[in-house]
Amino acid sequence: MNRLNALAFALLLLLSCLSGCIGDLDASNDSESDSENPSQDGSENDSDDELDDPSDNASENDSIVDSDNDADNGSDNDAGNQSDEQLDGRVVECLDGSTTVVQWGQQTCATPEVFAASDVSQETVNLTLEWYEIGSIAWGNYGPIEIYIIGENLSAAEELEDEYCERHKALDDNWKEEWDCANANYQIFTQYIEEGGAAVGTFMKAHTEYDFSMLIMSAKYPGPDEEDYKPVMLHEYFHIYQHAHIQDKCTDDSRDVCLRDDKMGGKNTPWFSEGGAEFMGQSLYAQQPGVHDNYLREVMERKLNHSLDGYKAQDIRLDNLTYQSDVNVYDVGAWFIAFLIHNEGESAFLEGFYGDLDEFGFDASFERNFNSTRDSYLEDFELFLDQSREEIMSILPEPTTVNDS
Ligand SMILES: [Zn+2]
Repeated sequence: MNRLNALAFALLLLLSCLSGCIGDLDASNDSESDSENPSQDGSENDSDDELDDPSDNASENDSIVDSDNDADNGSDNDAGNQSDEQLDGRVVECLDGSTTVVQWGQQTCATPEVFAASDVSQETVNLTLEWYEIGSIAWGNYGPIEIYIIGENLSAAEELEDEYCERHKALDDNWKEEWDCANANYQIFTQYIEEGGAAVGTFMKAHTEYDFSMLIMSAKYPGPDEEDYKPVMLHEYFHIYQHAHIQDKCTDDSRDVCLRDDKMGGKNTPWFSEGGAEFMGQSLYAQQPGVHDNYLREVMERKLNHSLDGYKAQDIRLDNLTYQSDVNVYDVGAWFIAFLIHNEGESAFLEGFYGDLDEFGFDASFERNFNSTRDSYLEDFELFLDQSREEIMSILPEPTTVNDS
């Protein structure tokens, strides 16, 4: 029975993810989407830097649908709205024989369900899961998650969209095929064939009953043969961590207030969410065996070189930059998080800030854990950026060994 339940759970997960992940959803499509697609930025062409340039193509997409929005009630657990059957569907058996109920924001023994397009190799599936596991060991294993891997074949991506649709229709009585499934205005996986990239979609929605996160990886920008695929996977998993610490449900109507957006750092102002995912993903990648000692410093120096002058030459503060800004908010945001963690320690950010976020909201949690208001911290950050590049770089850990090569 547990196995059946686990299967049903997996199915559910798959279905609900899709609608949130895309940048060009129309208003009737939902969800929060953090998508990485660096390939659109013509200014940078070095292939190992793709993660740094997602801004042109990334979007947060909240959308619609009606009414019963628990957005005001951050600590509310939606389990009460679900039938016993649905709750049962989230029961999974752990390797040690115990069982657990997978719930939003709770760490779990459950492994993510993976759905790959038919042209994606088992090797790519294994690679994706390997890096998912590294992220989940470092930051905690949060669920429910559905991972979708898109290949190069359009028909295969369309088939995956159909599969997603059918599965979620079966798993959630409130799933609305007309807007939750792919349609002429709402691509779920097919755009990755041309655009590539990676994304996380959050399906914690007012109109659906089955909550889940969707993590999408594709065949390019980065592809599974590129080193960037690994830190990008960690970057995406950090978005899962961020969203797992927020219980608010949002509607699919972008006109509605969505507290989830506020807690991520503001609607379409991804300084904190993308900066955090980028710095944490790159930092964790840098610590893995086989990654060269100077990796993190090189990545962060590249971000500085790409974005510092442009950022200082304009007068939009970091927390007002958008995905569409000329300045790469991922780059400067990553430096803000590096600055923050250098000053406050990683646990103040990871456990302190995210632990208090749902109860207190963004600004109050910020102040409680970083002993300063957002405004004041951002002023300090501007002063930090006024230093020489050597002084800026000095907050990063030195490599433990000298690389002579
Ligand atoms: Zn991201």
